[in-house]
Amino acid sequence: MAAENGDLRLVSLTKRFGIFTAVDDLSLTIPQGGFFALLGASGCGKTTTLRMVAGLEEPTSGKVQLGGRDISRLRPYKRPVNTVFQSYALFPHLDVFENVAFGLRRRGIGDIRAQVERMLALVQLEGYGKRRPAQLSGGQQQRVALARALINHPQVLLLDEPLGALDLKLRRQMQIELKRIQTEVGLTFVHVTHDQEEAMTMADTVAVMNAGRIEQLGAPAEIYEFPSTPFVANFLGQSNLLAGQVAGRSGDDILVSAYGSRFSVPAARCRAVDGDVYLGVRPEKLHLAPDSDSVPAGHQWVTGVVSDSSYVGVSTQYLVRTPWGTEVSAFASNAGVLAQVPLGAHVVAYWRPDHAFLLGREAGAG
Ligand code: ATP
Repeated sequence: MAAENGDLRLVSLTKRFGIFTAVDDLSLTIPQGGFFALLGASGCGKTTTLRMVAGLEEPTSGKVQLGGRDISRLRPYKRPVNTVFQSYALFPHLDVFENVAFGLRRRGIGDIRAQVERMLALVQLEGYGKRRPAQLSGGQQQRVALARALINHPQVLLLDEPLGALDLKLRRQMQIELKRIQTEVGLTFVHVTHDQEEAMTMADTVAVMNAGRIEQLGAPAEIYEFPSTPFVANFLGQSNLLAGQVAGRSGDDILVSAYGSRFSVPAARCRAVDGDVYLGVRPEKLHLAPDSDSVPAGHQWVTGVVSDSSYVGVSTQYLVRTPWGTEVSAFASNAGVLAQVPLGAHVVAYWRPDHAFLLGREAGAG
């Protein structure tokens, strides 16, 4: 992709600590004005990537470009980039106003009141200017940290697990708030998180990282509905992955042998079309019926016995043990009449072929 003015590009970015490779030849383009999430488990290299963009870590090789300009050699404070950390890093002895004003004062800008007040309004902290950080809640402190970073008008705002210290409810509120602020200011946000729901709620593009590399990059719905590797399928929510082998093709469908049966998956939903594969179906796409006669036409199914159920409010999660010992998971919506299926019931778990996906078994960890 050609770099547009303002795009952030990472070019073959690599970071080694001794013999350990934390970030491995990573290349990607983050469009200007986008909300981009780097999602991955602890230790996969997210923070190291962010630190290289900020200039806090020197790449072993590769480049960071912003709007076509190589910024890899610039000192951190010379980069048009600001970072918000999980720890807020506010100055405890300064009040909220002075914390937000800090960057402007350091640059010798005189008339700052209007700018600081505009920033406090943006993060919904009007009237809090005289408070000290210790007199604020965690969510409010995080808003101050955000205002302090935004007032410098960076081209890119880096957010390193900024909501990690907040409780779940506040975290969800702040996710919506951050998204609103990003839309309002129109800056590029690069957000690092290990929370898949957080990444999917806020970002327009998510990069799933594993062992220093990008496993998949795309819009949240795209990577959730059609993951490219077993790792991504399992990292983003739950996935039923049935091990099988490709047995041929019929028209636009790939045929798969698994558990003594034949299943078909539309070729457009297949990442692999031969060899050992996983047939994947998300639990909410799997439905239960008492027997195969009750399965709607055009669907496919496996038989089994309900081995576990958990009521979770909006849905009930069932585990169905197949005759091959594998358990599949199905979420049944509780939106209609609540009719719980008892443990030990013989059922069929069925799905639409175009709701399934096919993955190569060798692609990433299952
Ligand atoms: P977390 O979510 O836990 O912060 P992360 O995905 O952000 O994880 P990084 O902090 O980027 O991961 O670390 C990636 C790997 O590099 C880890 O295995 C870490 O131990 C290692 N690492 C990071 N910094 C250093 C360092 N200064 N020296 C040696 N190894 C390091």
